[in-house]
Amino acid sequence: MRIFDPHIHMTSRTTDDYERMAAAGVRALVEPAFWLGQPRTGVGSFTDYFDSLVGWEPYRASQFGIRHHATIALNPKEANDPRCREVLGVLPRYLEKDGVVAVGEVGYDSMTPAEDEVFAVQLALAIEHELPALVHTPHRDKARGTARTLAVVRESGLEPGRVAVDHLNEVTVAAVAESGCWMGFSIYPETKMTAERMVHILREYGLERMLVNSAADWGRSDPLLTRRTGDAMLAAGFTDDEVDKVLWRNPVEFYGQSKRLDLSTVDAPEAWNGNSIRRGGE
Ligand SMILES: [Zn+2]
Repeated sequence: MRIFDPHIHMTSRTTDDYERMAAAGVRALVEPAFWLGQPRTGVGSFTDYFDSLVGWEPYRASQFGIRHHATIALNPKEANDPRCREVLGVLPRYLEKDGVVAVGEVGYDSMTPAEDEVFAVQLALAIEHELPALVHTPHRDKARGTARTLAVVRESGLEPGRVAVDHLNEVTVAAVAESGCWMGFSIYPETKMTAERMVHILREYGLERMLVNSAADWGRSDPLLTRRTGDAMLAAGFTDDEVDKVLWRNPVEFYGQSKRLDLSTVDAPEAWNGNSIRRGGE
């Protein structure tokens, strides 16, 4: 099983995690810029972080045969801190970098007017830099947050096929399916979504525009839950090819729209060391 985790925060993970992920079949991932827990007080802490997302972290991943790309943005939570507003000015420089495959995570945390403004500005940046957008939906008041998210995406003029709306569940999936946006699901050990519930959603909504991630971060999370979802799909009667579509070809298609996805190292047969894997298809 080859796995592309389309949303995982490796900054907060150890090298043991990289090792276990590689053993489980993870060959590529996208690390979105996010809130680091401790509030940042100025633009310098953001640029150092962004630099590590396009510099240090891809290097660390490469030591385990994993291809690393990033998405860059001012996250929704810190959009509310006036000290962080200056970050919007440095984004264009990062959105031109090779390893950056989308604008994100953008979207809502508490749905404040400041978040409205920063979200709209960053969707406009996605259009300007011809990048897809990765959109975070709020953990509280999810249905209303998702509806408002889809309205802002519509107003932005960004094509729905270039937008992934993430952290969905049974309550929010239908509206996003209808919008034409990609549907992202974060599989967590106890909150948000489990592998088994994910399998039910795939049965009901099909495999098109579906993205499954582990979103592993500082909280209780597990970078192997993408693999676990693949195993749950197989146990439920999905084929190897269907698992490959959800866990590999879909994220390749979504982020491939950036025209910056470079999977040449993972496509090389020697990178697989005899691991049985179907080639091609993307
Ligand atoms: Zn995230």
